[in-house]
Amino acid sequence: MSVADNIAKFEAELAGTSSKLVAVSKTKPSEVIMEAYQAGFRRFGENRVQELIGKYQELPKDIEWHMIGHLQRNKVKYIASFVSLIQGVDNLKLLWEINKQGKQLQRTIPCLLQVFIAQEESKFGFEPQDLKDLVEQGAFNDLTHVQILGLMGMATFTSDTNQIRSEFRKLKGLHNAMSAMQMPACMEMNELSMGMSDDYKIALEEGSTMIRVGSSIFGSRN
Ligand SMILES: *Cc1c(COP(=O)(O)O)cnc(C)c1O
Repeated sequence: MSVADNIAKFEAELAGTSSKLVAVSKTKPSEVIMEAYQAGFRRFGENRVQELIGKYQELPKDIEWHMIGHLQRNKVKYIASFVSLIQGVDNLKLLWEINKQGKQLQRTIPCLLQVFIAQEESKFGFEPQDLKDLVEQGAFNDLTHVQILGLMGMATFTSDTNQIRSEFRKLKGLHNAMSAMQMPACMEMNELSMGMSDDYKIALEEGSTMIRVGSSIFGSRN
């Protein structure tokens, strides 16, 4: 199946749900992204700043670019003007840097807070309890140029579907708990980004509003 066919398959699967597809195009060349673009698709995810900038410059400007990878503070300035959603904001210093860049550009930058739900040292994110504490302590109250749309998380890389499900459920539980809290103006809990090629079906069952799918659309990466 072609890239366009694969996207159509996912779009059909998501039709009638409130979940969106982010096509993760990392490592794939611009021509391949254009195949999806020409089929009408506009939402792509990249995990490296250099690659994201290159593709942004090369490709049509109505593409909605999501930064899905770990983002270093000193690189925020390179993507702040055009990025549609920074998924995976995993610490407050980074959020404040995004806020600072947004202020300079007079732009409010949409973000998701990444939560650590996996049993893997290599993954990033806030601890669930820390996030609730930070909201209660007012740590987000003075942010003026970011809009936190919700949460993002990655399950452990495992074939144990029960474990994956329980990790997604934990994230959804936090999402619910935070929705019920008094939140600052810059924060809402409408989005819950979870699910990738191997676990998106479980994620959808557990309440994902945004799945990030790479290899099932574009083929495996080297
Ligand atoms: C690469 C990546 C994905 C997509 O992974 P696939 O298994 O290829 O679907 C999703 N989310 C993040 C954060 C990624 O880095």
